[in-house]
Amino acid sequence: MTLDAALPSLSDLVVERVGFGIFVVDRSLNVLMWNRFMADHSGLGPEQVIGRPLFEPFPDLPQAWLARKVESVFRLGSFAFSSWQQRPYLFRFDHDRPITGGVDYMQQDCTFMPLMREREVVAVCVTVSDVTHLSIMQREREEAVAKLQEYADRDGLTGIANRRFFEARLHEEFSRWQRHGGELSVLLFDLDHFKKINDQFGHVAGDAVLRVMAQRVEGVVRKEDTFGRFGGEEFALLLPATPLDDAILVAEKIRHTIGDAPVEVHGVTVPVTASVGAATARAGVSGCDALIHEADAALYSAKRQGRNRSVAIA
Ligand code: GH3
Ligand code: MG
Ligand code: MG
Repeated sequence: MTLDAALPSLSDLVVERVGFGIFVVDRSLNVLMWNRFMADHSGLGPEQVIGRPLFEPFPDLPQAWLARKVESVFRLGSFAFSSWQQRPYLFRFDHDRPITGGVDYMQQDCTFMPLMREREVVAVCVTVSDVTHLSIMQREREEAVAKLQEYADRDGLTGIANRRFFEARLHEEFSRWQRHGGELSVLLFDLDHFKKINDQFGHVAGDAVLRVMAQRVEGVVRKEDTFGRFGGEEFALLLPATPLDDAILVAEKIRHTIGDAPVEVHGVTVPVTASVGAATARAGVSGCDALIHEADAALYSAKRQGRNRSVAIA
């Protein structure tokens, strides 16, 4: 096959056809070459760009940054790169993804290549790759991980913290208390005669009661407290910076929040009460387990004393 010298060379055709942007600038950032990808996405053809300083038709470009990048390639004669993770885009081009991807403009990876003649850099060739799909995938992955993290920390029935998360927070706060002192209290509370509620109204109603209770209590605890489901119909509340006297006040508040009004589920009225045990970190409490054990003993004492009450171990 012979090629007609009057027709574009094969390399010219490739540069026109490739699926990424290619343009060339001199040391003063005058445009020397501009391929079709650049023309299609910018709306400016080579005849409108070539021979002009790049910043004239594109005043939005990061001028100082780009000038520094190109100058360094001229000076060092080596490649330079720019990733969408550091700089999402160089040119403000639209992308062809659905807007639901949450990305405003085409995300771009750029390469700056020195073009050499006789060991001297005569121009810099810049390539612009559309990596919008990568950035959308990365964003979706981050969102999925955050959601999984959220699910891993939550109790499926009530939506409040699960026991694993509660215990992790308890460890954190207990270590902080050991290092820096201060106050730290814990409440354990258990619904009274819950077996009877299940027996009388059914397990589904029992579940609904647990959900309503958890919501009610969550509505009255402080943001810095951690409220979690400890198991079955037993809940725990971690109270940082709270001495025992205040913890008892909180215990009573929660007991009233639970017991003062019956829960309406599926048209039936279910009276519910709770017993609460409180304990506080102090010298002699060896660890988190000991603290929980004290709160549990207090709770047991509240049950024995007739239920629907708060008991503290001081
Ligand atoms: P007490 O006053 O001594 O606490 O009596 P109780 O009947 O509540 O006794 P206990 O705490 O030993 O029993 C808890 C019951 O709660 C047992 C179980 O049937 C019920 N339960 C535990 N988890 C769930 C749950 O997720 N949903 C429902 N509906 N019931 C549960
Ligand atoms: Mg119970
Ligand atoms: Mg129980």
